[in-house]
Formats: sequence, C-alpha cells, structure tokens
Amino acid sequence: MIIQMMGPQACGKGTQAKMLGNLLNLPIVGVGDLLRGMSKDHPQYKLVHDQMAKGELVDHAITSKILMDHLAKSEYANGFILDGWARIVDQFKYYDPNPDLVFFINIPHEEIIRRISGRRICEPTGETFNINTMTEEEIKACPGPLIQRKDDTEDAIKERLEIFYRDTTPVIEKYRRDGKLVEIDGMGSPAEVFERIKVAIAQKTKS
Ligand code: AMP
Repeated sequence: MIIQMMGPQACGKGTQAKMLGNLLNLPIVGVGDLLRGMSKDHPQYKLVHDQMAKGELVDHAITSKILMDHLAKSEYANGFILDGWARIVDQFKYYDPNPDLVFFINIPHEEIIRRISGRRICEPTGETFNINTMTEEEIKACPGPLIQRKDDTEDAIKERLEIFYRDTTPVIEKYRRDGKLVEIDGMGSPAEVFERIKVAIAQKTKS
C-alpha cells in the first residue's frame, strides 16, 4: 500500500506519517529529508541546497532521481508512506507514485505561521519540536541545541506557502477527483489528529 501525505507547511504531516508508519508497519519516505540528507560530495549538492534555502522547489529531474533511487530499495517493495511528492502537477511526468490513499492535513493560514515561527530542530537527533507546545518529556528527550531550519526564514516561508497554494493545490484537486483524497482537520494535538486519520482508515477499509 502506498499512502501519500499532503498539506501546507507545519500542518503536522511528518508527525502523522510517523504515527501511521508505526500503526501500519510501513516505512516513511520524506522528500525534504532525502534532500537535506544528501551527501556533500553529490555533484548537485550546492544547487539543491541553494534552492532549498530560498524555499524554492528543487529541480524536478534531480529530486525525482534521488527519490526513485531511494524507493528502489527492497524495504519499500511492499509499500510506503510518501511525504513531499508530487508537489506540482508537472512532477507526475518524472515519477507518478500512484498512491492508494492520500491524506490532506489542513490547517488555517494563521496557524501555519504560528507553528512555523515556533518550529525548532534538535540538532543532534534531528527531531522536530515546537517551542510553543514542547512538553516536559520532549524537553528532556532533546539533548539540544534547538536550531531553526535554514528554510524557516520569513522570505523562504513566503515562497514555500506560495508554492503550496499555487502549485500543490492542483495536485490535491487531482487526487480529490480520483476519489483518493481524505481531508483531515489538522487542528489539535498530534494524538487528536491521528484519531481522525484512524477513523478515516477504518471507513476506507470498510467500503
Ligand atoms: P519539506 O521538508 O517537505 O518542507 O521540504 C523542504 C524543501 O525541500 C522544500 O521547500 C523544497 O525546497 C524541497 N523539496 C521537498 N520536496 C520537493 C519536491 N517534491 N520537489 C522539489 N523540491 C522539493
């Protein structure tokens, strides 16, 4: 089974992908994570990192090659949860994931801004937290320091949101027409949002 996670920046799709991966025993593939983890020796490293830092989409041919090479590994043969592709209709020409189910986690614009401004990464572990809502447990689990993502600057956020509303919305609408889209209210705690996802999965598997 292939499940695609979609939604605006900071909607929580990475967190939900992890919870869903545990529930369904499926590995997760995050395109942004693959690009961030690219080796410094890769010939296109600088180009990729410059485009990411500006909040732009990275070249489709480079990104699709990295993604497809990664998905060729045997651990993905029985399915996966995909976060971050396709982000624009043009990308289907390079690689069509043909998901069985697509979750669109939606939150209002003001909430996106509030969450992004509080988003921090624990540098040694790579875990993402929000300084507005960090629990005691999370604070203990992070050996620190907490850093901001390079593309969480005001200009890069503006660019990424513009891409989402202008370019990714048609991808979402395509999946809606295909009958594959399940829209989930992304407001509330991760556990509350995950409950909604579980209900949707139960309904889908019944029908
Ligand atoms: P994310 O971690 O999903 O927020 O992605 C971070 C950045 O990675 C994006 O702002 C883009 O620069 C790049 N990126 C992620 N997915 C794609 C994609 N499908 N195509 C091109 N660039 C991407």
